[in-house]
Amino acid sequence: MDYSQPKPDRVAMDGPSASGKSTVGAILAERWRYRFLDTGIMYRCVTYYALQQDMDMADERMLGRLAESLRFELSYAVGGESVLTVHGESVSGELWTDAVTASVSMVSAVGAVRRSMVRQQREIGSQGRIVMVGRDIGTVVMPDADLKVYLDASAHARATRRMLQNGNVVESGTYDEVLAAIERRDEYDSNRSHSPLTMAADAVYINTDDLTAEEAVDRIEQMCQQLAGEAC
Ligand code: C5P
Repeated sequence: MDYSQPKPDRVAMDGPSASGKSTVGAILAERWRYRFLDTGIMYRCVTYYALQQDMDMADERMLGRLAESLRFELSYAVGGESVLTVHGESVSGELWTDAVTASVSMVSAVGAVRRSMVRQQREIGSQGRIVMVGRDIGTVVMPDADLKVYLDASAHARATRRMLQNGNVVESGTYDEVLAAIERRDEYDSNRSHSPLTMAADAVYINTDDLTAEEAVDRIEQMCQQLAGEAC
């Protein structure tokens, strides 16, 4: 990793669901005027189309073929927002329905699906400054990222956040149901055989239990400035 710059060029941010990485990553990218890619959206897209086509979620060959057919692009105008498109269309809010959320871990565990997504993520990552968030960014997609951050939070904090979120994430149910769904997804994402969720050995760990998203970004910026100062 290159700690000599107060704003490292390529930032990899990983962590479990509802750890705050999408919000924190988007704020950091906006402050630094970097491109932003939430790779979870790509896996949700594959899942959404698989559900639309009534695909058998155990049919790895079909899921792999579907993933291979999807072309993602990230467009960005400096000072604007990063827009992820699939076949030229921006991705929609339907990616955060309970149905997609319930199946996405199964789909993202398929090796052929991951290969297609990782290839496209690497391509997007190679096009310049970026904050990329997901589960395997620091370990597999951009192992040579200039900064790696692992955001974590207790299951309780994450379930509470999910319940309060009224933006894109729509997870209905009681607190206990939401907590159980989060723990189930963590379990699946952390134990799959293809690039499971793990913290890269050289990542910086931040627990966001007691931090707002802005405070988490402040912490990352302070840390980068400190490290750049030490490297001079
Ligand atoms: O981040 P989000 O909750 O939207 O991600 C949805 C799912 O996509 C995760 O539960 C995980 O199964 C999968 N995912 C992944 N690798 C990534 C990003 C997301 O396997 N880099």
